[in-house]
Amino acid sequence: MTHIYVNLQLIGIVISFIFIVILLLKKSDKEQKFMITSFICTMIYCCGIYLEYTAPVLPVAVVAVKIQYFSACYLPLFIVIFSFHHCRVTLPKAIIFILTLMETLVLICVWNCENNNAFYTSLTLEDKDGFSYLAATHGPIWFLYIGSYIIILLLIISVTIYRISRTPKGFRINYYIICTSSLLPAIAYVLFKTNNTNHCDPTSLVYLVVCLMLYFSIYRLQFFGLIDLARENVIDNMQEAFIVVDENFNLLDCNTAAKKLFPELRKLLNQGNIECIPLLVDIFSDDTFTEFELNGRYYEKHITPLGNTLLSLNGSCAIVVDVTQTHQYVDELINANSDALAANETKSRYLANVSHEIRTPMNAIVGFSELILHQNPPEQVYEYAKDINDAAHSLLSVINDILDLSKIEAGKLKLTTGNYTTTELLGNVISIINLQATNKKLDFKININPNLPKELFGDIVHLRQILINILANAVKYTEEGYISLEVTFGASPTLSDTIDMIIRISDTGIGISPSHIPTLFDEFTRVENKQITEGSGLGLAICKNLVDLMGGTIEVDSTLGKGSTFTVTIPQKVISMDAIEADALTTLTQSKHETSHKSTFHQDDGKCQSFWAPNASILVVDDSNVNLKLVTSILEEYQIKADTTTSGRNAVDLVGNKDYHIVFMDHMMPEFDGIMATKAIRENGHLDLPVVALTANAVIGVKEMFLASGFTDFLAKPVNIIELENILLRYLPEELINRYEKDIDSQQVTNERLADMGLNIPGKSINVIDGFNNCLKNKDTYISVLDTFYRTCKSLREDAINYIKTKNYEKSLLFTHTLKNAAFTIGANRLSDLAKDAESILKNRNYALFESKAGKLMTAYEEVIQDLTEFYSYMENSTRTGGFTKPRIDKDKFHNKLTQLKQQLEMMDSVQAIDSITYLTSHSYADQTITATLADCKDDIADFEYDRAIDKINIILERINNS
Ligand code: ADP
Repeated sequence: MTHIYVNLQLIGIVISFIFIVILLLKKSDKEQKFMITSFICTMIYCCGIYLEYTAPVLPVAVVAVKIQYFSACYLPLFIVIFSFHHCRVTLPKAIIFILTLMETLVLICVWNCENNNAFYTSLTLEDKDGFSYLAATHGPIWFLYIGSYIIILLLIISVTIYRISRTPKGFRINYYIICTSSLLPAIAYVLFKTNNTNHCDPTSLVYLVVCLMLYFSIYRLQFFGLIDLARENVIDNMQEAFIVVDENFNLLDCNTAAKKLFPELRKLLNQGNIECIPLLVDIFSDDTFTEFELNGRYYEKHITPLGNTLLSLNGSCAIVVDVTQTHQYVDELINANSDALAANETKSRYLANVSHEIRTPMNAIVGFSELILHQNPPEQVYEYAKDINDAAHSLLSVINDILDLSKIEAGKLKLTTGNYTTTELLGNVISIINLQATNKKLDFKININPNLPKELFGDIVHLRQILINILANAVKYTEEGYISLEVTFGASPTLSDTIDMIIRISDTGIGISPSHIPTLFDEFTRVENKQITEGSGLGLAICKNLVDLMGGTIEVDSTLGKGSTFTVTIPQKVISMDAIEADALTTLTQSKHETSHKSTFHQDDGKCQSFWAPNASILVVDDSNVNLKLVTSILEEYQIKADTTTSGRNAVDLVGNKDYHIVFMDHMMPEFDGIMATKAIRENGHLDLPVVALTANAVIGVKEMFLASGFTDFLAKPVNIIELENILLRYLPEELINRYEKDIDSQQVTNERLADMGLNIPGKSINVIDGFNNCLKNKDTYISVLDTFYRTCKSLREDAINYIKTKNYEKSLLFTHTLKNAAFTIGANRLSDLAKDAESILKNRNYALFESKAGKLMTAYEEVIQDLTEFYSYMENSTRTGGFTKPRIDKDKFHNKLTQLKQQLEMMDSVQAIDSITYLTSHSYADQTITATLADCKDDIADFEYDRAIDKINIILERINNS
């Protein structure tokens, strides 16, 4: 029997060694270190026992005992540390210290037992079955050893019981293992000491069993899985409450956060039922809510059903997240959003008000300047009024842009779709842009796909706005070369009845640098450009928004210094797939040559259809006297004497006392505004009386609002004379309107005035007054048209003669067609008439007649060229000689006048300065370069560039002094 016991020690040594090697190959962590230490201790213990039983003499046996006690003292200490670590309870350092001290004291006494009786009082070597063992009686330190062991045992038992009590049933096995590991060696030792083991100490072997048990628990059965430990740790420390219940709502586990949230849980931890906490029961059982409020904070619950078929466990786990902060963020966002909406609304309101405030004075500026232009003023006044009118119009376009954009932003801009013809869309755009291109001497190339469908469905007004905007930019940012418009189409990728209209607008202008392209379509984005200062940077932003609204795309391709190409692709429904008629296409591509725009005053062949209505009875209501004066002044043009009042209330009375044909009613008036007055007028029974709203509020939807408020029509301020005229024609009884044809040429423009402007073309072939009027009385336009005509005529002359000679009637027809329009524009009326005649003869294929008349046509053609050649040589001569038609001025007077001008400019006295520069430029001075510099100086003054003008004056003064 004893030899089995001794051999078992040897086996223990080998097993321990093998496991130490296996453990050394494993990942180094706390568990690994603990297990290696335990196996080493066990191995030492077994060695000690083996040595004791094989000891030949007492001293050897004593050494063996000393070896045994090394393990016997420290192994329980390691086990208690491991147990506490695993139970996640901190073992106070003081306890570890005391225990270590006690064990070390024991060990010292054992190791020194030959010299003291503290641990052993007597030691004798006994013989047993051929083996020896030590029989000992113990001294006081032995009791310390037993005491420390009991303390260790109690500590392990209590910590595991504590853990077991807090762990659901199926998950307690690891704690039972720990408890067993500490109890088994104690039991073995007790059995040994009570002589139940036949003098064989089984402790070392029990320790081996415990080590193996722990090894398999940790590494094979994963009872001490680190991951689980980590999970438990995380769960316990997390902010969210974590609660696990079984299917009967018995509490299985909860973390610290859960106990804080529901303090009642502390009492229920040992399998208590959560039914005493109704909210918690709802959290687990009521699926209808995910959020709840508790003690003024907001929580969100997440329930996960749990099930373990192996252990037949069922239950659920709740995670309760504190979402109070998220709630606060959401509240803040909602507040910020409503603030932003309110701010946006304020902005829209502010814009509407500002537009009203700006448009009201603009009304006077535009209106009165237009009136001046219509009243045949002296040249200088005409120029000033024209400048005022132009400036006012550009300001108005900026205001309109801002309003447009704010409407789009507010989502108030609705597309007004309908059927339209392609010619309708393009004709209008081309003629507007052509005038601008001609003024800048740019070629305007047009290329329209002849298969483009004739009739489409879409928003023509906004399509036009996009085209005009991009084309006007092309003109604005191009100094020489050409601008081009290409319109074509492709099949829509999605819809069969829709095409993708592709509009490509190119120019040879300044181009855009690559760094500016990404922000080009943003609001208020302008590329710094010293030469071009006008523009608000809103045009492209509006285009982009409009294109987006229409479901299209806009792209730009540009090279700095070379030019840009904007490509707009917009889906449009096809109404008629027929291509544009050839005629219409020719008209479109040629419409650019017809610079003679119809006068806004129903002009037809140089005559103006107008009317007077002296018997019309009209009331104008406006709180602003300036506006009253403006509207009445315009009405006077039609010989209408209007009644006026500045009060809405008074207007109601006036309407009651007199029969008016039309009432023009201002919208915003103090106290009793236009809407109230109109309401009162309607209530008094004047249901059919046309009441036209006058308003500076141009925000979208306003017109509808007016019509809904009882107004008959709407007239936006600044009042446009044509629109006012249309209203009069629409609402005045026909019998009051006396139509007549007025010859605006002789009435408003005289040959003398034109001669003053330098437009004195010799000969009789050109009626300068007609030409000037055809160019909307714009000197620059007329000169530019004249110039183009002259150059084209000269180059076409040979060709034209050839067409006639070679009987090329097709080309001749084209020639007469172009000539008819062009000649009419410049005022070459006879030539135009002859060309018109020839064209219709050619259209009727009456070629013999054409040949008989061709000679007359060409003579008239030559006459016009002759007169123009004379005019141009006269002009050239005039420029070369410094203007021989101008009175001469001597050096001193010139010098004085120049110095005077300089002082006026320094004082910013613009009126005097303009007088002086006009005087100087209307006189000639011997030095040619000075005349040219003076002309530049005049331009600078007109542009209010006084500093630049002063620089030029200094140069001239220096030149005069040196001459
Ligand atoms: P703006 O009123 O300033 O012309 P836009 O929105 O129409 O405003 O254009 C924004 C900017 O884009 C312009 O200031 C200009 O710098 C640039 N741009 C637009 N079109 C062209 C073009 N055809 N060539 C060169 N630059 C252009």
